[in-house]
Amino acid sequence: MTESSAVDDPRRHSGGATPFDDLGLAVGSGEPLAAHTWLGVGGAARFFCEPVDCEALARLVRRCQELALSVRVIGGGSNVLVPDGGFPGLVVRLSAPAFCGIEVDSAGATGAVDAGAGAKLVHVVAAAVQAGLAGIETLVAVPGTIGGALVGNAGGRGGDIGDRVRRVTVMLPDGTVEEREGDRLAFGSRWSNLDDGIVVACRLELEVESPQQLTKRMQKQWIVERAEQPSGSRSVALLFKDPLGVSAESIIAQAGCRGLRVGGATVHSTHANYVAVQPGSSSNDVRGLVELVRGQVRQRLGVELTPHIEP
Ligand SMILES: Cc1cc2nc3c(=O)[nH]c(=O)nc-3n(C[C@H](O)[C@H](O)[C@H](O)COP(=O)(O)OP(=O)(O)OC[C@H]3O[C@@H](n4cnc5c(N)ncnc54)[C@H](O)[C@@H]3O)c2cc1C
Repeated sequence: MTESSAVDDPRRHSGGATPFDDLGLAVGSGEPLAAHTWLGVGGAARFFCEPVDCEALARLVRRCQELALSVRVIGGGSNVLVPDGGFPGLVVRLSAPAFCGIEVDSAGATGAVDAGAGAKLVHVVAAAVQAGLAGIETLVAVPGTIGGALVGNAGGRGGDIGDRVRRVTVMLPDGTVEEREGDRLAFGSRWSNLDDGIVVACRLELEVESPQQLTKRMQKQWIVERAEQPSGSRSVALLFKDPLGVSAESIIAQAGCRGLRVGGATVHSTHANYVAVQPGSSSNDVRGLVELVRGQVRQRLGVELTPHIEP
């Protein structure tokens, strides 16, 4: 989440408390974003809204386009680093029921799940498994929303979400909504081409399998993945993407970065690809640590790591 360049004061637009007042939507100002993220650091959003439906979201983004005001979505906040100076535009959270629906279709030879972008990934996985639909059960331990998972193509050893995406519904900056499928969708290593709008929903294509077998596989995966994550605190985030064929964790450990610290941000002592933050830490501590680790890995091993957490 980057601090955008200065914009004209949007309050001038309506003469009200915010430039959204005439839209009849509950838009707050100065919302502390730390509370919406796993790391719990960073400043406030200039404007913040949890729109009730797509129509309300469209009115918001259209107004932002008129005012040249940046818009960002915050999902589960598990992969986002809010700057200490906050975000000078509008932050939206798709937490309303209209964005969190999950519908399973397991009637045919293959199955599908339709999910709103604000639905928690773990809920989508559970719904699919319960209905006997296979293909996303290995993502059970990835925190966050399905919107966040699609944008960053979340995944791991068992595959990525992008492998299962049939269609994505995206809202463009002018408030129009389009369906994308086929070659209009691209997913790579913790990357997708969905960064030009707001993901509002998706359809995943899955295979039919016995719910009992699937449940066992999901539970096993949950145990394995949770053992590879730091436990006991939400104040953590993944530091770097895995370079091709190697784990970032082993590279960071080999370069002697375990326990490195900047202010209140530390490289986790057991799970070296995670940053852990102490209460009172700043976003700059985390940024400083990312650069320190990158520099040490470059210098000792000649490897260039790419940050996983999004600034
Ligand atoms: C303990 C832990 C374990 C993790 N394990 C994994 C793992 O195994 N594999 C993996 O890939 N990742 C993993 N992650 C990283 C993270 O959970 C994923 O990247 C996750 O998919 C992020 O989803 P989110 O909803 O929290 O997104 P957020 O952190 O809220 O947002 C991430 C980015 O996506 C954008 N975004 C979110 N929703 C939308 C939307 N609807 N439309 C447009 N843009 C949107 C945001 O603006 C931001 O740029 C882990 C993180 C933690 C803390």
